[in-house]
Amino acid sequence: MLIGIDDTDSPAGMCTTYLGAVLIHQLKEAGISVTAQRLIRLNPNVIYKTRGNAAICIEAEGDADEAFRIAAACIEELAEFDEEKTNPGLVVSEKKLPVSFYRQAVTEFCTIEEAESICMAAGARVRKWKNGRGIIGATAAIAAEQADMTWELLTYRDPADKGERSVETDSLFRAEEETFPHTWDTVDIQNNCIVCFPHTPDPVIFGIRGESPEWVKKARGYVCSQKPVMEVIYHTNQGTDAHLLKGAIASLVDGCSYRLTGVVADTPVTGRGGHVSFLLRDPSGVVRCMAYEPTKGFRDIIRSLAPGDEILICGSYKNESINLEKIRIITCPEIVRQRPPLCPTCGKRMKSDGVDKGWKCRRCKTRAEEPEIIREPRMVSPGWYEVPSSARRHLARPLCRGIPPE
Ligand code: ATP
Repeated sequence: MLIGIDDTDSPAGMCTTYLGAVLIHQLKEAGISVTAQRLIRLNPNVIYKTRGNAAICIEAEGDADEAFRIAAACIEELAEFDEEKTNPGLVVSEKKLPVSFYRQAVTEFCTIEEAESICMAAGARVRKWKNGRGIIGATAAIAAEQADMTWELLTYRDPADKGERSVETDSLFRAEEETFPHTWDTVDIQNNCIVCFPHTPDPVIFGIRGESPEWVKKARGYVCSQKPVMEVIYHTNQGTDAHLLKGAIASLVDGCSYRLTGVVADTPVTGRGGHVSFLLRDPSGVVRCMAYEPTKGFRDIIRSLAPGDEILICGSYKNESINLEKIRIITCPEIVRQRPPLCPTCGKRMKSDGVDKGWKCRRCKTRAEEPEIIREPRMVSPGWYEVPSSARRHLARPLCRGIPPE
C-alpha cells in the first residue's frame, strides 16, 4: 500500500517529514513493514505552502485499514490544527495513482476535487481535516514516479525544542569537503554559510542531500551535533528540475516554472535592492528575467550578459517576470563597436563626413576612410551558471549533478 500525507505543519512548528518519520516508526511497531519512504516536493509557487511544499509517501505492506487508522491517529496527535493554513490530508491506496496527477502537482496547480476523484477511482481511503487541502499533496506524493531521484537524510530533535540548533559548523564544512559532489547543499562554500538546516522552529536539526543512501550516510558521519531523536533517509525528487516545463514566452502561465531559450534583448540593469534584470526575447515574445539579491555572485554573471547573447534560462514565472535559477550561455560573441578614428596628423577625434563618406578632421582637414574598431572582451564564456547553494530551490537540479539534460 501507499500512504500519502501532507499539510500538517505551520510556521510555528512541526514538519510533514517529521510526522512521516514518526509514522514509519509507529507502522513498524504495529507489525506493518515499511519498504520505502519518499519526500516529494510539489510546485514551489503554490501560495498555500508553509515552507518548501513537501509531501510524504510511505510504501508499506500489511493491513491497509490498520495503517489508515494509525496514520490518522498520528496526524491527529501531531498536526498543527490551530494554524489557519494547516489543512491535513491522508490517502492510503492499494493501487498506484496516475503519474499525470503528480506531474500536474509539481508543475502546475490542482484542486481538492481533482485529488478526490483520482482517489475515488482507485478505491483509496481518504481523510481530510479542516478544508482538507492536504489531500492534493498526499495524492501527488503517492502518484509520484520519475527515473531521476536523489536522497536526503534528515535528523530530528524533539518538536518541543524550538531553540537554536546545536551543530558544529566545522563538521558541516568537513562533510561537504569529503563528499561533494556526491552530496550537495550542506554548506555554501562561495558565501561561507550553512545551508543544511532551517532557521525556523521546526524539528529538523539538519539534512544531507546526495546521490545515494551511502553518500548521505557518509557525509552524515562527519557531522557533530546535538543528539537527534530520530533519523530517516527519504528518496526524493529534490534536485531533479521536476518542476520545469519547456515553454515559449508567449504562453507562460503565472506560477509555473520553465526552461526557455532566447536572446538577450537589452543590457542588464541593477535595480534598487540589488536585483539584476534584463529582457529575454524568443520568436513568440519578450519577458523580464530577474536575479534577486540572495543569489549573490550569480548576479555578476547576469550583469555580464549583453544584447544578442543566446541563452537558455530556468526559473519560475511569477508577476510577469522569471525568477532565475540557472542559465546556460550558448553564445556570447565578442562585442565589436565602431567610433570615429583619431586624426593621424593632429590626434583630435575626427567627425563623420556624412553617410559612407568617411571621416574628416575639423582642425586640420585630414581625411580617413576606416573607423576605429573597439573590441570589448567578455567577462563570461559559454557554459552553465547557477545560483549559490544558499539561494537554491529544493527542486532545482544542482550543476554538480552534471549537465542538465536538454
Ligand atoms: P513543509 O515543507 O514544511 O512540509 P509545506 O511547505 O509542504 O510545508 P504545506 O503545509 O504542505 O506546505 O502546504 C502546501 C499545500 O498546498 C498543501 O495543502 C498541498 O496539498 C497543497 N498543494 C501542493 N501542491 C499543489 C498544487 N500543485 N496545486 C494546488 N495545491 C497544492
